Amino acid sequence: MENPLETLSLDGGWLCLDFVNTVSARRPEQGTEYLNTWSDFQLWVRRVGLFAEPEWFTWQALPESNIEEVRAFREVLYELFEHVTRTGALDPGHLDNFNSLLHEVYPHTQLCLTENGLQRGVSDAPHPERPLWLIALSAEALLLGDRMNRVKACDNCGWLFLDTSKNGTRRWCNMQTCGSQIKARAYYHRKKDENVKM
Ligand SMILES: [Zn+2]
Repeated sequence: MENPLETLSLDGGWLCLDFVNTVSARRPEQGTEYLNTWSDFQLWVRRVGLFAEPEWFTWQALPESNIEEVRAFREVLYELFEHVTRTGALDPGHLDNFNSLLHEVYPHTQLCLTENGLQRGVSDAPHPERPLWLIALSAEALLLGDRMNRVKACDNCGWLFLDTSKNGTRRWCNMQTCGSQIKARAYYHRKKDENVKM
């Protein structure tokens, strides 16, 4: 059977949000877990194109790390960003949890000269947890940037995404999957209301 990660939609628009969206849904309750094993995580890293292909092969041959820690890491990010989508503010406790993660990640980071100027990156040495460091830096960049008000949760499935639409009114992770479901439901309710009135 095909692993759902092979065709997983990448609707987050930002690395750490795609990482958070590795369960089938967050609403009305948590759906199917996609990161059950370390090889699932390897597949996801490939799916999002985090590394160039040869680099990915080198990385996936490294010893396995703990998938439970990967999921715990993910849930810290989910809590942090999901709270913002609901309340428009960061929760200090969630931020503490994220800071604890960053504290572990920072020793593996360095300032790098890139085409886009000086940026914080991770060291090149192969390490099983290197993808997590990159995800942590992706979350940090989102938090420190000016687009936190564009982080949203899908009205239908609860996946998180960065709304890059011009007017900032996107409501679902994916128009084809969730958008059409919501529209169909709205139509159904409207019809029902009309019938009641008659
Ligand atoms: Zn959705």
